[in-house]
Amino acid sequence: EHLANQIAAGEVIERPASVVKELLENSLDAGATRIEIEIEGGGIRLIRVIDNGEGMDEDDVLLCLERHGTSKIREDRDLAAIATLGFRGEALPSIGSVSHMTITSRPAGADLGTEAVVAYGKLVKIHAIGAAQGTRFEVAHLFGNTPARRKFLRTVRTEQAHIEEVVKNYALGSPETTIVLRVDGREILHLDRTLSLQQRLARLMPAAVPLLGVGDPDAGTPPPRVFGYLALPEATLPAAARLRLFVNGRAVRDRMMTHAVIEGLRGFLMKGRNPAGMIHLIVAAAEVDVNVHPAKHEVRFRHSRDIHLLISEAVARAMGHYQQ
Ligand code: ADP
Ligand code: MG
Repeated sequence: EHLANQIAAGEVIERPASVVKELLENSLDAGATRIEIEIEGGGIRLIRVIDNGEGMDEDDVLLCLERHGTSKIREDRDLAAIATLGFRGEALPSIGSVSHMTITSRPAGADLGTEAVVAYGKLVKIHAIGAAQGTRFEVAHLFGNTPARRKFLRTVRTEQAHIEEVVKNYALGSPETTIVLRVDGREILHLDRTLSLQQRLARLMPAAVPLLGVGDPDAGTPPPRVFGYLALPEATLPAAARLRLFVNGRAVRDRMMTHAVIEGLRGFLMKGRNPAGMIHLIVAAAEVDVNVHPAKHEVRFRHSRDIHLLISEAVARAMGHYQQ
């Protein structure tokens, strides 16, 4: 069991940013409207994620430490239509197997919360404790027991940059959640839930303003639906500016979607330049397979060509309006 967790950790938990990603997804799945992320030493020394989501009682806390202890798949057929971000029940046992992990959680309505301490895969303590509603994860000494993996990590700065990337992706994927990021005690990102998606992107990519509005942001329109904001093709952007893609709120990498954006911009984007900004795609859960890779960056569409056309046409239309 412990070995299985460590093996899974090798697949799912590559680096500190993978921990942040899994914890953020869980907080979002728990319906949090506010998430604070704190990291120290590039996330190797400490990662702390605090949310105001639904919380867990003692049984939930014990369950979440078990492999496949997910609360998110209730029947087999759910696998075909996965709506939540996480669904494998592998993340927490994996993280716990390669770190010192402390979970503190309290569901609404309970007087006391629960605190559990796991050290390299072993539950060393679980007890009742006063706690705010929601959940708090602390992950310390990441890969302390797997020196090979630890050695594989880059500098603190690089790991920190990866974490910032992940946090920015989720900040854009879930604009209805306040997201705060503190690095070594310094607040470097604070995106309030009152900001619009456009305002969020403008904060993260100030050089890209004014942004080109793409598609139909009206949540009432039935899927498939595409919306987003792109930097104008002539904008001068820092080298790090990139195109962020989301499918049903989940950050993904997808060649087809990127290609569709480039095609929509065709004639305007100078050769050799990459598009920047963000594109959200909302599709029916049954139209997309997110179960391609444990790290879940990749997706597979049932009607890939239709999606390509939807995106490229929306981008082309936006460019057409802008030109006039
Ligand atoms: P998965 O997300 O695939 O279900 P995880 O290992 O990431 O698997 O989490 C296991 C379970 O722990 C979740 O299904 C959920 O019930 C619970 N959980 C984890 N994080 C939180 C959180 N921040 N708030 C509430 N419940 C949580
Ligand atoms: Mg999860």
